[in-house]
Amino acid sequence: MMTVVTRFAPSPTGELHLGSVYSARIAWQRAREAGGTFLVRIEDTDIRRCRREYETAILDDLRWLGLHWDGEVRRQSDHFADYGKVLDQLDARGLIYPCFCTRADIAREIAAAASAPHGPDGPLYPGTCRSLSNEERRHRIVAGHELCMRLDAARAAEQAGPYSFVDETRGRIEGQPLLMGDFVIARKDTPTSYHLAVTVDDHLQGVTLVTRGEDLLPSTHVHGLLQKLLGYAAPQYAHHRLLTDSEGRRFAKRDRDLTIRALREAGKTPADVFALIAAFPSKA
Ligand code: GLU
Repeated sequence: MMTVVTRFAPSPTGELHLGSVYSARIAWQRAREAGGTFLVRIEDTDIRRCRREYETAILDDLRWLGLHWDGEVRRQSDHFADYGKVLDQLDARGLIYPCFCTRADIAREIAAAASAPHGPDGPLYPGTCRSLSNEERRHRIVAGHELCMRLDAARAAEQAGPYSFVDETRGRIEGQPLLMGDFVIARKDTPTSYHLAVTVDDHLQGVTLVTRGEDLLPSTHVHGLLQKLLGYAAPQYAHHRLLTDSEGRRFAKRDRDLTIRALREAGKTPADVFALIAAFPSKA
């Protein structure tokens, strides 16, 4: 039988709150009940928003809660070279291109278009830089224009062919490679993006079961695309409901009174925290 490997992968952009502990506990529990491995990974590719203090606080809160992990914590910013290698492979296959657009350029382009295709997070990138000539690209790079790299989703879909993934409660889902359009594969400031780093890490770390909030279900479509392109085995998925407050709002890092820090300072025990979580509704 295959060993179960799960992971909790917080971004250190704030303190741990009840919503994230709910998610962490599912990953921890699924590993423990299967006699498997529970990993913790720090997803700090957004280097402007991530803080080392938050990372330290998150790990300390997890320990305090008794959600002990196996092995070393993997911090994504220590592994940019791994993502860079994969980026080079995609580049060699003609699947990525530099994009010089600012947010304002993109908004202007979308406003001028008769109809703009929409994805789960709003209008999709209109593809402005996809057709730039190599000469124009060189010219802009030499002139010092900032750039990010995007995946040419249509080309990637063609190379990958059909693919699917399995979500425990939803069953087998046909992959939609164009769902997020030409998404960012490497940010302006780091040689990777959330989608690339997650896909590479889940593969390198041998994750067999990805447990995460259902808000990330659209992302799974593009992770599936990258897995298929790169020849990675797809893990199984369990997208769980999101914990919400009594008004049905999901927790956010701004809800300071529901951070584990604040609850600890108020004298709560780990058992109190889990009881509190159990008392909150989770959104269908
Ligand atoms: N780092 C992501 C977050 O904090 C989670 C990514 C994942 O579980 O795949 O939202």
